[in-house]
Amino acid sequence: MDRLTPVAPKAPGRWQIGTVSAIIDETPRVKSFRITLPLWMPHLPGQHYDVRLTAPDGYRAQRSYSVASSPLDEGEIELTIDRLDEGEVSTYFHDVVVEGDRVEVRGPFTSYFVWRGESPVLLLGGGSGVVPLMAMLRHRRRIAPHIPMRLIYSVRNAADVIYAGELGDDALLTYTREAPSGWIGHTGHIDADLVAQAGLSSGTAFICGSDGFVETAADLVTAAGFAARDIRTERFGPTG
Ligand SMILES: Cc1cc2nc3c(=O)[nH]c(=O)nc-3n(C[C@H](O)[C@H](O)[C@H](O)COP(=O)(O)OP(=O)(O)OC[C@H]3O[C@@H](n4cnc5c(N)ncnc54)[C@H](O)[C@@H]3O)c2cc1C
Repeated sequence: MDRLTPVAPKAPGRWQIGTVSAIIDETPRVKSFRITLPLWMPHLPGQHYDVRLTAPDGYRAQRSYSVASSPLDEGEIELTIDRLDEGEVSTYFHDVVVEGDRVEVRGPFTSYFVWRGESPVLLLGGGSGVVPLMAMLRHRRRIAPHIPMRLIYSVRNAADVIYAGELGDDALLTYTREAPSGWIGHTGHIDADLVAQAGLSSGTAFICGSDGFVETAADLVTAAGFAARDIRTERFGPTG
């Protein structure tokens, strides 16, 4: 197995104030925030940070966001946030935060949902569940492009594709509601046919998305031959 990061941190760092250095519009309801950290430490692809907002009256809201960037991007992390209309923290980031703002974060948090160089790898993401998988893809492209890694990415329509400019031959998309005109690839929910197209029947599988997506995808990769111990799942909500 390749050694992919210099150090696997055992404990998250303490709360620190990062500075938003760039905001990228990914889709109409998803933005990426590049945050420069004074106490940066390398993360493992798949790890997340906690973000804490404090109102003038002391009220606090805290949520978790996966790191989308490679740990090779020293000194900064990228968080990609889906705007939920009734959401407390995601709407703050989308509607209030501008470049140069300071935000309080803590991490990276260890979890079993991390890629440490296992090979081959099948990534299955639904909606914003693609975020931690993108950290794995980006890191692998830069440090171990020989490792077979394929992404199956389920989105509602073309406007919802996050990181559209970065999805190459290693990504298979399916559109669940409306495919772009001329699309000859897969449509509808993820199924056995789409999993077979990825061409992997063993290795490590990382699955991230809504409860329904994770359950369906886990059943499909099990049926495709992946051992239960090699299937890692992460669910994003709604508890935060
Ligand atoms: C380990 C981990 C990693 C995560 N990584 C990301 C990430 O990379 N990008 C990202 O956008 N989110 C991510 N999330 C989800 C994130 O932590 C928040 O839950 C999400 O942004 C909603 O927070 P909010 O304050 O805007 O909404 P809230 O005020 O918490 O909720 C508003 C409403 O939306 C519902 N809701 C809350 N969360 C979700 C959800 N995820 N899906 C559907 N409905 C929901 C609630 O039930 C409520 O009705 C992650 C969660 C976990 C546990």
